[in-house]
Amino acid sequence: MSGPTLTVATEAIRANARRLRGQQELIAVVKADGFGLGATTMAGAARSAGAALLGVATLSEAVELLATGAADARVPVLAWLTDPDELAAALPALVELALPSRAHLAALLSALRRAPGAGGVRRVHLFVDTGMSRDGCPPADWPALCAAARSAERAGLITVVGVMGHLGCADPGSVDHDLAKHRFAAAVARARRAGLRPRRCHLAATAACLDAPGTRHDAVRVGAGLAGIDPSGQERLTPVARLSAPVVQVRRALAGALVGYGTGTRLSAPTWLGLLPIGYADGLPRTASGRGEVVIAGRRRPLLGAISMDQVVVDLGGAPVPVGTEATVFGAPGAPTLRDWADWAGTIEHDVLTGIGRRVRRVAVDHLAGDSPLSQQEAA
Ligand SMILES: *Cc1c(COP(=O)(O)O)cnc(C)c1O
Repeated sequence: MSGPTLTVATEAIRANARRLRGQQELIAVVKADGFGLGATTMAGAARSAGAALLGVATLSEAVELLATGAADARVPVLAWLTDPDELAAALPALVELALPSRAHLAALLSALRRAPGAGGVRRVHLFVDTGMSRDGCPPADWPALCAAARSAERAGLITVVGVMGHLGCADPGSVDHDLAKHRFAAAVARARRAGLRPRRCHLAATAACLDAPGTRHDAVRVGAGLAGIDPSGQERLTPVARLSAPVVQVRRALAGALVGYGTGTRLSAPTWLGLLPIGYADGLPRTASGRGEVVIAGRRRPLLGAISMDQVVVDLGGAPVPVGTEATVFGAPGAPTLRDWADWAGTIEHDVLTGIGRRVRRVAVDHLAGDSPLSQQEAA
């Protein structure tokens, strides 16, 4: 018995990667510790499915991937959410940077001028906002960003290897989607008119890969889909993860007994209760209290009472199970799915998966069903 465990199937990640990339290059997004699955595990599987580049949000994520060897000269890493101050410091040459503003570019150039030749010419992507009003360069500032980048190219400091956008909506029927697509195409054309020659233009993430093939350009930048999440809920991808926890204590409780914190959950009949050592600090969403279920010994069992920080009580019904029996929270045949948990918690699968805490052991296997001890290895 070894506590709560997230079992991650690397062959499922590879299958999702192959399916999503199609004919395009794959930029495998492994931010937020690989959507909670373990960045090293996710990166390794994506690399063996042919990823050309890894993608993360922050610079510290990128630096860590290089430090662990998950990214290297063959498969470098792109970071797109930086603070100009961070760019003013010396950065590993294998980090490609997506720049959303002239302030970011200026900070980077000042660092490159201070350390000429360090790591060669810096590879950058220019990042345009196609309509989310979030990250990326507002379209009005785009021509100036392109011009400034082109003159830095001429000065031999950077080379613009990509243009990047991100879609807030991947529904090809919607006006917002069509407008974003158009804005991206216009931004790429504008970059070319400025003399830039980006060879990797990338817009589509998971949802667009599945539902808006017209957005694929040179490369797709996918994360959730590698983790098996189909944002549309159509479940077209292979599930990647199983969350489980052992029953650590079993008791008989009488009618009228309260369960857990507060006075909201009182037993109306006697029952057997099991205790699972997993709570909201481990990513079991507290907002799923009163709705969540697990599978124990092949049967669905409701959770009872509020989900606590470290633990939760499960209703075993008329008969106890041996201490040590495994409960599946999600990801096995007959068990709830990650999507069920997202629905119970009133959120999306991404939120549940990335919320799985550090106390939960990660174990990488080839296949979830196979799980053979031979192929089993402790995830890094
Ligand atoms: C998270 C993220 C992605 C990956 O999106 P998925 O829907 O998880 O595939 C791609 N690009 C940007 C800018 C992101 O923030």
